[in-house]
Amino acid sequence: MPMQENKRITGRIIRSLSGFYDVQTPGGVISCRGRGHLRRGAETPLTGDMVEITVERGKGMVERILPRKNCFVRPAVANVDILVVFAANVNPVTEPFLIDRVAAIAGDQGVEVVICVNKCDLDPGLDLAKIYRNAGFAVVQTSAETGEGIEQLRALLKGKLAAFTGNSGVGKSSLLNQLCPELRLPVGEVSEKLGRGRHTTRHVELYKLAEDTYVADTPGFSSFDTDQMEVILKENLQYAFPDFGRFIGCCQFRDCSHRKEPGCAVTAAVGEGAIEPSRYDSYLKLYEKASLIKEWEIKS
Ligand code: GDP
Ligand code: ZN
Repeated sequence: MPMQENKRITGRIIRSLSGFYDVQTPGGVISCRGRGHLRRGAETPLTGDMVEITVERGKGMVERILPRKNCFVRPAVANVDILVVFAANVNPVTEPFLIDRVAAIAGDQGVEVVICVNKCDLDPGLDLAKIYRNAGFAVVQTSAETGEGIEQLRALLKGKLAAFTGNSGVGKSSLLNQLCPELRLPVGEVSEKLGRGRHTTRHVELYKLAEDTYVADTPGFSSFDTDQMEVILKENLQYAFPDFGRFIGCCQFRDCSHRKEPGCAVTAAVGEGAIEPSRYDSYLKLYEKASLIKEWEIKS
């Protein structure tokens, strides 16, 4: 069907490079430029953005960026629905703090979190799975080697824009290749992966797993750069821990920070085993970090 000229079409930016945007529309992918105000203004289109475009003499133009649900700086991607946090209990063992940190950042930005315990063929990672199931997260136990859990993960991603994160070597590339074989990501060669544009601007691409289902990836890395990710206000941190939810508001002091205050319902819950000690330890560490950041330093 020929594309109607000048009519506005809504689509999603799946790739952006040097001022050109590939927009996935119901009629196919259209290469677009940004309208002048989008090139000069503060608002630059990002991969993941939902946009309105027009097509004139076969050339696409991004006219407007639709309101964003969230947006990350590194990698530059907007409207992430779900963050898959990879972990393993063997070669390498994942520190719970790494998981808790990214899970809190995602939670603060309204991004759903799934914990994927990979390398289950070598070690089922029962303790990790238990901690995160108890904390209320969806947990999938997978093996990129045997294919275990892959279809379960695929089902969780359906209709969403997903990003993957996790410590190096945990199997993100291997699993992405299983989900989307045309990606052909290099596996295992850590030094090679790091060598690729480590300090250059990372452009993000969305790979289509199914209709309306995407995985965001930075070619050569396959991970969210968590060092540079957004910070959280210390007062908001508690809300980024879903397992604290039912205890918040039950403390003696209304503005309880759940550290050393008397009558704290959160610390009581830790004592009773209703909150996992490792989760609470991570909260304390992240609270310390968040205390060092002043409100005006946080991007809106
Ligand atoms: P990434 O750094 O997180 O992208 O990890 P890779 O996908 O590059 O995997 C690192 C190494 O672990 C490679 O040698 C993979 O073959 C291996 N690996 C990945 N997933 C699994 C798994 O589920 N089981 C086993 N046994 N090995 C795996
Ligand atoms: Zn408290």
